[in-house]
Amino acid sequence: MYADVLIEFSAKAIDQTFTYIVPDDLKGKLKRGMKVSVPFGVSGIINGFVTDIKDSCDYDEDKLKEIVRVTDSAFILNDELLELGVFLKETCLCTQISVYQSMLPTSMKVKTINTNYQQYDEFVSLIKNPDDYIKRHKTARKQIELLNELKEKSIISKTGVSSAIVRILEDEGLVKVIKKPKYRINAEKNDHKVTLTDEQQEVANKVINSKGKAETFLLYGITGSGKTEVYLNIIDNVIKDGKTALLLVPEISLTTQIIKRFYNHFGSSVAVFHSALSDGEKFDEYHKIMDKKVSVVVGTRSAIFTPLENIGVIIIDEEHSSNYKQENSPRYNAKDVALWRSNYHSCPVVLGSATPSLESMARAQKGVFTLLTLQSRIGKAKLPEITIVDMKDEYRKGNATISDELDKEIKEALNNNKQVMLFLNRRGFNTFVSCRNCGYTYKCPNCDITLTYHKTSNNLRCHYCGYTLIYNGVCPECKEKALTSLGLGTERLEEEIKIKYPDARVLRMDADTTTRKGSHEKYIQMIENGEVDIIVGTQMISKGLDFPNVTVVGVINADESLNIPDFRSGEYTYSLLSQVSGRAGRKNGDGKVILQTFNKDNVTLNLVKNNNYSGLYTYEMNIRRELKYPPYFYITTIKLASKDYDEASKEASKACTFLRKKLDGVYILGPTTARIFKVKNIYRFQIILKYKNFEQIKEVLTELDNIYKTNIKVNIEIDNNPCYI
Ligand code: ADP
Ligand code: ZN
Repeated sequence: MYADVLIEFSAKAIDQTFTYIVPDDLKGKLKRGMKVSVPFGVSGIINGFVTDIKDSCDYDEDKLKEIVRVTDSAFILNDELLELGVFLKETCLCTQISVYQSMLPTSMKVKTINTNYQQYDEFVSLIKNPDDYIKRHKTARKQIELLNELKEKSIISKTGVSSAIVRILEDEGLVKVIKKPKYRINAEKNDHKVTLTDEQQEVANKVINSKGKAETFLLYGITGSGKTEVYLNIIDNVIKDGKTALLLVPEISLTTQIIKRFYNHFGSSVAVFHSALSDGEKFDEYHKIMDKKVSVVVGTRSAIFTPLENIGVIIIDEEHSSNYKQENSPRYNAKDVALWRSNYHSCPVVLGSATPSLESMARAQKGVFTLLTLQSRIGKAKLPEITIVDMKDEYRKGNATISDELDKEIKEALNNNKQVMLFLNRRGFNTFVSCRNCGYTYKCPNCDITLTYHKTSNNLRCHYCGYTLIYNGVCPECKEKALTSLGLGTERLEEEIKIKYPDARVLRMDADTTTRKGSHEKYIQMIENGEVDIIVGTQMISKGLDFPNVTVVGVINADESLNIPDFRSGEYTYSLLSQVSGRAGRKNGDGKVILQTFNKDNVTLNLVKNNNYSGLYTYEMNIRRELKYPPYFYITTIKLASKDYDEASKEASKACTFLRKKLDGVYILGPTTARIFKVKNIYRFQIILKYKNFEQIKEVLTELDNIYKTNIKVNIEIDNNPCYI
């Protein structure tokens, strides 16, 4: 008997399985998906997954070695995940082992050093009538005390009981110690019953009625329309059918509140899975799922790989979020994985969003997805009133950060004991220049994206097509020498706010202030408790959070995301600003939103102001069609990266020539410098492909990828359907 083993080393050059002999003691026990240790050349004993077990093999048996042992008898990568891995390897062009490894939490990956994360609760249990012993040992006071307690309860927790005493009684054959796996996270139910509105129930029913079918729904529901309650209702039904449910949320900042709602509703039948858990917690949660102790999983991107069986629904909240796409290898998108798993389980998928991605909405328009809508906010709440403030005027008045209008709203909110959120777009990696006098920014005439300023060569460049302009500091629009790269950090904003509003309690929430475990939950609790008046933050405070007392939202620099050099910048800005605005007035509809900008006539900002998603859709789709962007065309980016500038540049040209020769009917842009051109002394050049059908380019991409398999100087990164280009 033989087994094919996929070893732990992830290298393109050895991306294959190796055959081993199954030793007698493992025959009948060894299964596909188990982790094993095997001898491997000079590396000694290493680990891997069994991918196949078979009776014959094509190699000379004398040359084969034996499997040493099964390394983790409690673990098995199930058939579904093994199969899914093959699909992902083909679509992400990465090694097979890297896919399986990324499906697993750190503590469970195949690796040479294995730490034991399992914790136990210990109990003492009575296994024999102790009366005789008690009679014979009248002076053993402590033993008798314990035995009497056990006679009453038959099993008790070992905590607080002397180990020495237990050992004596164990030796007498009277008691034994029982170990039960202990979980680090334990949730309790705390239900508040909500009756769905007719609109909500109708939406939920459509999904519930499609059980047993792999149908994909796009749930387009404005912020505060009660999507989460709809999810809970759908999942209730799924559980009633004896099935399981998976809910993905885009980022940890969103999980805090949603997890609380899920715990309240489902109690201990929920497992959570996100990056803020410790390795031990992830280990526990994973085991709860494997051991079928839970029927609901809530988590971020990688939770899509949890081994839930018998899935009845997969829900992806905030489906437009780019966080569902993994940016490094394996470059999978959790939405694609969700669709794959829904086919496997014949269950519906729900993609929920207040601002669906253009790709999903286009599919819904074509009837590939079923569109469901929630058009009204719950209760009295209306969408907030949005005002656009021209910062050019304010700038001339000397207000660089807070406009007079925002100042007025903040003061009013503070006077009324309401809360204020001030949102600052995170600065991107790229520098763009913009005119403080007229708001002008440079765009590529071919690609409609913002040009990136390169300091060393003092020029402005399009990183899609390579278009270049010499930079001279004079605005081409108003001829003023007022071009600057904008930029203000949250820390400085926090300082300014503290000075301007000395009596307000200010809280800053960004990547720097929330690194400590639990800090996120703590801050959210503080906001909920009303211990904070002004919250200053980045993207982190933009989405999903539900704070009824926030009445004013100020967007300090609405321009920052408009100028991300990406063809989706308009779409991203719309969704980001709608999300941020959605934080205001969630309870009574008395919300005010102030958008500060240097481009008050910008189309996207005005669509945000009017809450006009369908306008955004039409406007963007026109541009996409004209410039051959998704959803009309698919995009793949190919990056050639090296420590050696010349080498990267030369190989990028060679790869481009190769592609031009091999691919017909595919638009090929570049090579040019990548958006993030130089990181940690690695230079990256990029080629962009626009095409109609992946099958058309799949083989050529694999061929190109293989050319760089053994090149140690230049690395190739191929990304299908990237979120940021
Ligand atoms: P969304 O996710 O669409 O932004 P939520 O699900 O967070 O909206 O709902 C917004 C608020 O309305 C929450 O506080 C929620 O508990 C409440 N809510 C939702 N549906 C109902 C309902 N049918 N009855 C009462 N309250 C509801
Ligand atoms: Zn261009």
